[in-house]
This record gives sequence, structure tokens and C-alpha cells, in this order.
Amino acid sequence: MEKETMQQREQRIRLFWTASNIFEKSIKNRQESTPFVFYEGPPTANGLPHVGHALGRTVKDVVARYKTMQGFLVERKAGWDTHGLPVELGVEKQLGISGKQEIESYGIGQFVEKCKESVFTYEKIWRAFTEELGYWVDLDSPYLTLSNEYIESVWNILSKVHQDKLLYKGHRVSPYCPSCQTSLSSHEVAQGYKDVKDLSATVKFKRTDCNEFFLGWTTTPWTLPANVALAMHSDLTYVKAEQNGETYIVAKSLVSKILDSEAKIISEHKGIEFEGVAYHPPFNYVKIEKGHIVVMADYVTETSGTGIVHIAPAYGEDDYRTVTQNDLSFVNVVNQQGRYTEAVSDLAGQFVKDCDVEIIKLLANSNLLFHKEKNEHSYPYCWRCDSPLLYYANDSWFIKMSSLKTKLLENNATVTWYPEHIKEGRFGNFLENVVDWNISRNRYWGTPLNVWICTSCGHEEAPESIEKLKSLAMKSLPENLELHKPYIDEVIFSCPVCQDEMKRTSEVIDVWFDSGSMPFAQHHYPFELEAFKKQFPADVVIEGIDQTRGFFYSLLAVSALYTGRAPYKNVLSLGHVLDEHGQKMSKSKGNALDPLELMHDYGADALRWALLVDSSPWNPKRFSTKIVQEAKSKFLDTLENTFSFYHLYASIDGYKFNSTLPGKQTKMDEWMLSRLHSTIDKVTTFMDDYQFTQSSREIAKLIDDVSNWYIRRSRQRFWASGFSEDKRAAFNTLHEVLSTVCKLLAPFTPFIAEHIYMQLHDESVHLQDYPKPNKVVINDSLEQEMKDVVKIVELGRSIRNAESLKVKQPLAEMVICSNGHFDAYQSIIQDELNVKKIHWTENLAGLADVSLKLNFKTAGAVFGKHVNDLKKYVENISLNEKETLISEGKLEVQLSGQSFKLDKTHVLTETHVKDGYTLAKEGTLTVLLCTQLTRELIDEGYIRDFIRCIQDNRKKFKYPIEQYIDLHILCTSECQELIVKFIKLIKASVLVQDIVFVSTFDSQHVIKYELDKNSLEFTMNLK
Ligand SMILES: [Zn+2]
Ligand SMILES: [Zn+2]
Repeated sequence: MEKETMQQREQRIRLFWTASNIFEKSIKNRQESTPFVFYEGPPTANGLPHVGHALGRTVKDVVARYKTMQGFLVERKAGWDTHGLPVELGVEKQLGISGKQEIESYGIGQFVEKCKESVFTYEKIWRAFTEELGYWVDLDSPYLTLSNEYIESVWNILSKVHQDKLLYKGHRVSPYCPSCQTSLSSHEVAQGYKDVKDLSATVKFKRTDCNEFFLGWTTTPWTLPANVALAMHSDLTYVKAEQNGETYIVAKSLVSKILDSEAKIISEHKGIEFEGVAYHPPFNYVKIEKGHIVVMADYVTETSGTGIVHIAPAYGEDDYRTVTQNDLSFVNVVNQQGRYTEAVSDLAGQFVKDCDVEIIKLLANSNLLFHKEKNEHSYPYCWRCDSPLLYYANDSWFIKMSSLKTKLLENNATVTWYPEHIKEGRFGNFLENVVDWNISRNRYWGTPLNVWICTSCGHEEAPESIEKLKSLAMKSLPENLELHKPYIDEVIFSCPVCQDEMKRTSEVIDVWFDSGSMPFAQHHYPFELEAFKKQFPADVVIEGIDQTRGFFYSLLAVSALYTGRAPYKNVLSLGHVLDEHGQKMSKSKGNALDPLELMHDYGADALRWALLVDSSPWNPKRFSTKIVQEAKSKFLDTLENTFSFYHLYASIDGYKFNSTLPGKQTKMDEWMLSRLHSTIDKVTTFMDDYQFTQSSREIAKLIDDVSNWYIRRSRQRFWASGFSEDKRAAFNTLHEVLSTVCKLLAPFTPFIAEHIYMQLHDESVHLQDYPKPNKVVINDSLEQEMKDVVKIVELGRSIRNAESLKVKQPLAEMVICSNGHFDAYQSIIQDELNVKKIHWTENLAGLADVSLKLNFKTAGAVFGKHVNDLKKYVENISLNEKETLISEGKLEVQLSGQSFKLDKTHVLTETHVKDGYTLAKEGTLTVLLCTQLTRELIDEGYIRDFIRCIQDNRKKFKYPIEQYIDLHILCTSECQELIVKFIKLIKASVLVQDIVFVSTFDSQHVIKYELDKNSLEFTMNLK
């Protein structure tokens, strides 16, 4: 049978999970257990998944599977974010229309239907991605932000916000296309910058209390008719200066740029001295109640202009904030088409961007223009219609989050953040500076804002349920009422105050309010109570760091508004996934990795493992195909080979695990089981603290120990004929290790864990409990000893490498110098390093002597004229003093009645190793290997090479490993002598029964070999 590929295996396991309802069972099994609550942040299904999503989904899955196996009930409801501008823009593109007017002439009803259809364009790809990754989440009954139940819950929340008087109408200044009559998002604005020449003006604002002028500067003269204030910086230095008989106030550092060289400085002032000073506005088209005074603002700089900024609240975000903060009047003289209103009588109906010249002329006529100039700068244009954009204040609804700041900070204080610094840093700072939440959008596809306003008396109603909506409606509503626009706009209430008509405000809400409402709306709370009660608050929320101001904030904000409580206990904020050079991945740069492609090439387990083990998920992660490839070749393949080894010999021996027959354990078994249980201990401790990288690295170390040490050292036990107690113990140990490793790995690499566990137990690993460490079998000193043994072997190998001595070449002797006792491991070391004899010592005298010499460079300066005496002293130093100097690093020396303090830096050391030996050293371990070869050793080396050749050919011919063979050999008499000399070794090493020396061959399969430069031919025959 052809070997199954990784992809086929993962697919087979997915099908098994579906057919046997393993995911459902894993939850059903824990029905009576304590819930561990997990919230799924809703992705939008109208974009494709990227590697960042793979990281998020992997971590979510690891946590959920781990907690399930730990005995918790972990329900996992999927969700989809379905509303919003990207969906609308996609549909506009699909229909070949653009902008609000075209949408309205196409028909809002039809447009909304198209949006609804398009939401799930990529749902299939997302489902495939989710399933292929092995992310267990309930995709069959997800929450959908577009469903009536979901919207009803959101309305219930908004109704409470309205009732608490936290919902108010204000203005929102944003980039606006007066032609399309729509606001643009920042990424839309970024698409349309052009370099243009515009007029800027320096304007005279006359003080009302004296004959002095503030000089204000603006690049948008058309906003001057709506001037409300001037802003100065409280700490900047300003001057009063006289020029041509008039007195001007400007920033000191800008005087030379603004005024003539003859201008005379009269006095210096701090900005704060002008706070509240009143002035005459340049135009008197509109009367304002509060304004035309100087206010302080931190964003005012002296890098350009005059250090004094003209403020028109409707046409700039800073301006709007300044006016709101200072409680000044709001004025708007521009209509939604970007034209002056009737108020600006001279220019009414004209497009404001075309009026800069007119405005400057009007200023000049009233002698208020100080200076004008043409500037080239980049200015945003509409990417749809090429009209210049305006920063423009539209009516908007806000939630007064600023009044909940203390509550938000208190709630955040109860949350544990991973990584910890986000709590007080990125997130805490954001909460410290929290602003009111602009929740309305002048769009079509979203949750409609449930506020109805009386057309006569202004009374507002915010129905908290569909039932309430029906009771307020003038006409009876259909049973299956569609809550979206435009249908909902047709619902008219009768005003309970004046009985006139009430109409819904036209906006839809910010999609972030949708997703922030998910703890409640996913369970249709408060209209259904049961599910919600067990699922609030969340034990954990896991998303990318870009969700700090997104999902993480909106959850906290909505819950603070609705319940006053934090909606989560732990937040895991994952870093961005970058390319291998640390650059952001992007489609346009061509460095974006496709998670689906990676899974097709290396399997989901490899992708998951690579994302976890390579680097901590909290930091930006450099990622590449190579990391995934290595996760497969270095980790998964090693595990697979380990299992194959077990599987092969277990089936040859007909071994079945039986816990009542433990066999006779060796030190190696004890060590392996100790390593297993100390690893379980570490992994669970790390996992309980969400330290995925540390956990997975511990498992990787364990697998390495199993494969490269335990099995390597135990092969003979599995190969031995018959079924001894020793063999049974080896099988039992490997069986326990593999079974437990599958359970340890199940949350991380669910496919291979299932694949192996099924073959060992014929049950799904995902329905098992997570292993608990058996502290009784953990033996720290044994583990430390074995670590030292491995180190000794590595040192021995390093000498072999350095001296180019093949492992097959036996060596006469090894000397090991250490404090510990490793007698029990002697045969392991001997076998690993192929040495005949091991000699243990605590002292290397006679084998490796250290001689000392005074270092004139360092000692000369310290000891001056005594240096030559010290040189002699050091050359003849006693053994004891030498040891003290080497081990303690210093030595006090008495010389002709004087005392000298020698330290390590004053001497040069040289190690003389006994002839024929080579030394290697690490920490407290020193190893000497005798590298001299005798004839006997060389001959044995030839034979061991020959044995390897026979072994390779056995494999090549696929001879069953437990079957004996006969060898027929044609060779010289010297070779024959050599072979006969080592016949026992050959027979024992490669299961040879008879060796026959022949003079000719009749067989076809003659193998040619060269033994000590003599050619040799042989054939192998199965017995
Ligand atoms: Zn436009
Ligand atoms: Zn009314």
C-alpha cells in the first residue's frame, strides 16, 4: 500500500471527526463540568484569511482543546461580522455604481439585498480554512450580526444607553465628498492625494479692547466666514510688534518671516496672557452666541504660519474639539453640497473651494488682509468622483464614553492581559484618553439606530425590543419584519407626547458596536436567558493586537454601558505576523504567505506547530515557509518515525500493552518515564499561564530525548529475540511515552496526535483527559545524571569529529574526569562512542597537565621590579598552589618577606595532554579520548564497516528484520582470515547464521565490496 501523505492523513482524520462527531462529543462529555467561557471575535466573511488569522485561530484552538481536556466545558460559537462599509463598497463595485446618489437611484431595498448576499461570498473559503486548520468552532450555528435576533439584542443595549441619557447628537468632522455626499474612511482618503496650488491668507483680527491685531493664518480662506475663535499655545512666546504704525501680535520665533525688518518689537508675552481676549471676526455673516475670543490649544506650533490658528469648528477635527472643549458655539455656513448657505449673502450657492479668491478680495476691501500667498501642498480628492474633499461636520450620534472613564479603568484593572504591558500601556492609555464614541454612520448596510424622533415636539423613543416597536408603530407590522433599511424607515410611531408622527433617525451604527455586543447578542439576551447566564463573562478573549481599539475595546465599552462589569477575565493580544525580514506582509508587496497554501504543502499540524514553537505569540513574529517546513521535518517527522519504530516492532512481537505486566525496568526506562512526567508538569504549568511557546518547546525536547536517546539506546532491547521481561519493559515504556505524548500534543497538533493515538488505543485522543504528572516517577537526580552522560557522549563525538575518526572505528580508551558517579552508564558511553575501555577519574594528573607562565603584559605593571622573581616562582609553583590559582582565580604568594596577590589575569595557562590523547571539556566535565590506533583496532574498524554494508543491503532487499540470513563470500585469504577472526561480531550484529567462503557464484545478486583495499564479493540468502 502506498504510504499516506500528510495531506491525505489530515483529510482522513477530519472526515473521521465529522463522521464520528468527535467535536460535539468532546463538549457533550463535559456537559456537567464547569464552563470555561471563550468568545470568538467575528471575522468579516467578505475578505480572505491571512497568516495572522491562522495564528489567532491556532491559539484559540489550542486554548479551547487544552481546557476541554483539562475537564472544562468549552462551548465555541463561531460568529460573522456582516455589516459595514467594506461590504457596501464591494457591492457598489460589483454593480458598477458609485456613491450615495447612485445607490439611491438603484434602490436602497435592492442594494441592501445585494449586501446581504455578498456577505457570505468567502464563507466557503473561510469554512475550508477553519476546518483544514483543525480549528474546532461551531460553524453550523454561528451568530450573525445581521440576524433579527442579534439586532434586537443590540437595540436592547442601545435602548438602555438612551434611557441612561448617554446617547446624544453632536457633530463629527471627517473627510467628506460634497459631490458623493458621503464621508470617506481614512484608507479611502489615502487613495486620492494630489499636489495642488492653493491660496493661503494671513488675516488681521482686531482686538475689541485696544487697537492691536492678532495675525491668524489659514490655508483654507473659505472657512473664515465661520470663524469662532483663535487658538494660541499657552507656553509659546509671542510678541507685540509695530510695523507701519500698526501693532501686531505673532509668535516671537516667526517675526522675521512675517514682518518687515523695520518692524519694532514692543513687548514679549506668554500665550496664556491672551486667554479670553475678545476680537472682531473678519466677517459678520453669522451672529454667534459664544466665541470670537482667544483660546489655548496644545496642537498650536511655531513651525509655520503665525503661531495663532483660526478656528472654524465645522471644518476641522482639531477645531471642532477645541470649540467643544471651550464650550463655544458651533457654526456651519456650508451645506451638504459644499456650497455656502444663504447666510453668506455675498457668496451664497457657490462651491466653497472655488471662493478662496473672493474671500481674499473681501478681506482686502475691509483692510483685514495682511498677506496672501500661493502654496503647493497635497490635498485629498475623492477617489470616486475626483472632487476636492472637505473636512466637514455632519450630524452624528455619540455615546458619552468619557463619562464612563472611571468605570472602564476599574473594569480593566480586573483583567489579566497577555502580554502584561498592554494593560497599563497601549490599552490603559487608550482608556485614559477615552473620547465619546461616534456610533452612527450615514450609510445603508448596518444595524439601524433604533431612535425615533417626533417631527413636531422632538420627543425621542428608543424601543428596547421588537415587541415594543410593534406597540409603538402606527400600522400593524408583519410577523417577519425585516429590521434593516429601508424597511425599518417605513415604520412610523405616534408621538406619546403630542400624537404627531415620529420617524426613525436615518443612520446605521458602527459595526464595532455590533461586535462589542456579542456576549449578549450571540445568545439573544435578554430575550433568552439560559445560555447567556453560563457564558458571561468570558474566561478568555484572543485576538490580534490591532483589536486593542477594536474588539477588545468595544467589548469592554458595551459591557460597561450595559452591565457595568468587565466582559472578560483574560485577554490574549497576539502580535502581527511579519515576513522573514520583519516587514509587514502585504499582497501588493508580494510577501504575503497564504495559509491555505502552506497547509496544502506541509499540513495543518506543521503550520500550527511553526506558529507556536518558533517565537512567542505576543511579539511581532517573523515568519516564513522555511519555519513551517522545519516544523514538519524536524518535529513531526521525528515523532512519526518514533511511532513507526514502535509500531513495527510491536507488530513483529505481537506486543499488546498490559498494565499488569510491567516487565523489568532499566535505568533507561526510569529515566524516560521521569522525563515524561517532568515534561507533563512543565507543560501544564506553562499552559495554565498561556505560555504556548514554552510548552511546545518542552514537548519538542521530550520528543528529541525519546528519539535520539531512549530509542537509540534501546534498539537492541527491541531487536532481541524472544520476549524477555526487559523487552516488555522497553515496550511498556515506549507505549506509555507515545500515548501520553499524543495527549500532550492533542491541543497543539491535533491531527498527528489523533493519528498515533488511534493506532495505540482505537479511541480519539480528543476525548481523553489531559495527562497529569505522576510526581513519584520524577527523579531529578537521575535526569541530571543522564544529562551529564549525554554531554560526555557529545564531547567524545566532538573529539572524533575533530580527529576525523569515524564512529565505526573502535578506540582503545576514554578517560572521563567528573565529580559524579556514572558507573551505571559505562556501557552506554562505551557503546555510543565505540571505545574499548573507560577510565573514571577525579583528577587529570599525568594525563593533562596545566603549566603556568607569568604574563608579562599584565603582571609587569603590577609587580614592577619583582616581576622576574615572580616569573621563577610561577614556573616552579607547587601543585596545590596551582590548583588554588586555577580554581579560585587568585593566590597570595610570599616572596622574600613580601606578599604578592596573583590572579588569573597575571598568568598564561597551557594544557599539555598526554601523547596519543585528545581533550574536550565543558563545565565540570572533561573527556580524554585515546586516538592512537593499533592494528587490532583498525581491523575491527574494517569489519564494522563491512557489517554496515550488510545491514544496508538487508534494508535494500527488504529482508524482514527478525529473519536470519546466510552469507556467501568470495575473497582473498587475508580477508578470509580477518572475517573469521571477527565472525562472532558479524553474526551477532546482522542476524547471520552461516558464513560460507566460496570460489564462484551462481547467484545473480552479487554485492561488491572493498575490505581493507581488497575486493570482496558476497551474496545474502534468507534462511
Ligand atoms: Zn465623490
Ligand atoms: Zn411629539
